Amino acid sequence: MTIADNMAVMVEKASMIRKMFEEGAKLKAIHGAENVFDFSLGNPDVPPPPEFKKVLRELVNDDTLSHGYTPSPGYPHVRQAVAEHLGKEHGIEFAPELVIMTVGAAGALNDILKALINPGEQVLTPSPYFVGYNQYCFVAGASLETTACDAKFHLDLGKIEGDINESTRVFLINSPNNPTGAIYSTEELAGLSDILEKASQKFGRRIYLVSDEPYRKITYDAEVPSVFQAYPHTILVSSYSKELSLAGERIGYLAVHPEAEAAELVAGAAAVANTMYCVNAPSLIQLAIAKLQGVSVDASIYRRRRDKLCAGLSEAGYEFNVPEGAFYLFPKSPIPDDVEFINRLKEELILAVPGVGFGAPGYFRLSYAVPDDTITRSFAGFQRAMEKVKPG
Ligand code: PLP
Repeated sequence: MTIADNMAVMVEKASMIRKMFEEGAKLKAIHGAENVFDFSLGNPDVPPPPEFKKVLRELVNDDTLSHGYTPSPGYPHVRQAVAEHLGKEHGIEFAPELVIMTVGAAGALNDILKALINPGEQVLTPSPYFVGYNQYCFVAGASLETTACDAKFHLDLGKIEGDINESTRVFLINSPNNPTGAIYSTEELAGLSDILEKASQKFGRRIYLVSDEPYRKITYDAEVPSVFQAYPHTILVSSYSKELSLAGERIGYLAVHPEAEAAELVAGAAAVANTMYCVNAPSLIQLAIAKLQGVSVDASIYRRRRDKLCAGLSEAGYEFNVPEGAFYLFPKSPIPDDVEFINRLKEELILAVPGVGFGAPGYFRLSYAVPDDTITRSFAGFQRAMEKVKPG
């Protein structure tokens, strides 16, 4: 083997995912893209708010615009703008030094895990969980462990308490959640905070909370409570991939709570990691988002699709928790083998992702970042797939 053994394992996993996408592409080539109902991708299709193009045009027309490297943690005035906005949102005064501009939330997660984790130490996350966490933990040399959520996909505090151990360094949450759409409540976060504080005392080392919130602005009937208000030893990770529909432009940030243990050291280490991975977040888009604080996509589009998809699937006999945020539905597979059911859906030209990839076999994920029409036209196929596995 010419590549690293542990990398070979990751390549094998990536090739399974690639195979899934290749099969989808083949179906589209055979049947026409409009006849394949592709719910597999979390790639936002809602256009960015009109302010984005306006700001971009202004920047491009400015002859003083620089295309050089930026300081590795980001332009000072951009970090200042993000810090001020976060301060307003979370009711906490933020120093710009504790904000690092990153290549999306993915870049922020790579930076913060590299900053906090010694090789072999543990990141504990509730499952189901976003598949990318496997990769970020791999890069950081962390071991990713999971603690099961309750039946509504909310935090099971009793389980969390039992699953934290002396090598847990980071508790990683994602709310609104991909794949479940759950938003953790103020009470849940308060309970989690107590557990993390007690465990930090018991094991004699600080357990940090990393809160991954790229879907914060895509919510329906629930507010996303401030994690910073719940637990001081928190690092917020976010991006503009979903809230401004700029996923391909790769811009995000991390922000360290000013009262977190060793806050400046943690932010400084994350900034050094940022230098290693990407030198700096893209310059032009840093400048753009500084002028777009508080602007976000029209979440009512996702709400309309959520309601449509939930109504159609419920009618066809599927069971699920109604998402409170993000743009994913995570129904129960009508048969225990979710991979087998995904194949049944594929026969109906419906593409979905099996729950096993999210650490939750027996479920499957549908992304409703797709046109309304795709949702409506898919219902007959969902119905037939259900009838095939549960006749009568
Ligand atoms: N975290 C979660 C939960 C996600 O769903 C995603 C992307 O889908 C990411 C992080 C990475 O997002 P970004 O595009 O900002 O890197």
